[in-house]
Amino acid sequence: MAYVITEPCIDIKDGSCTVACPVDCIYEGGRMFYIHPDECINCGLCLSVCPVDAVVWDEEITPASQAFVAINRVFFGDEVTGWGSPGGRDEKWVSDKDHPFVATYEKVA
Ligand code: SF4
Ligand code: SF4
Repeated sequence: MAYVITEPCIDIKDGSCTVACPVDCIYEGGRMFYIHPDECINCGLCLSVCPVDAVVWDEEITPASQAFVAINRVFFGDEVTGWGSPGGRDEKWVSDKDHPFVATYEKVA
């Protein structure tokens, strides 16, 4: 169980959720932020501050956004950043990389 960042964050990434998160488990990629699924404590504070409703609880995610459960997890693995579990976001843990789905995602205007 974890909260998940989904498509509306792509190219918005204003970072409001990172200020709200008490355990700093929201990490910056190139086009969006990603929640570390094992570091998230399911408090829901990030959901309440996101201006574009990009944050969802994985237990309530819609089929259309389901892929983002894996996308958030895979961001931290060898396929993208290779970070594993950093244990808290700081200036060392920022990347210009994205999950391949996000990197090639074309926003509908
Ligand atoms: S508050 Fe929403 S749009 Fe802003 S970085 Fe977080 S998930 Fe992305
Ligand atoms: S649910 Fe809480 S712990 Fe998880 S990412 Fe959001 S603010 Fe951080």
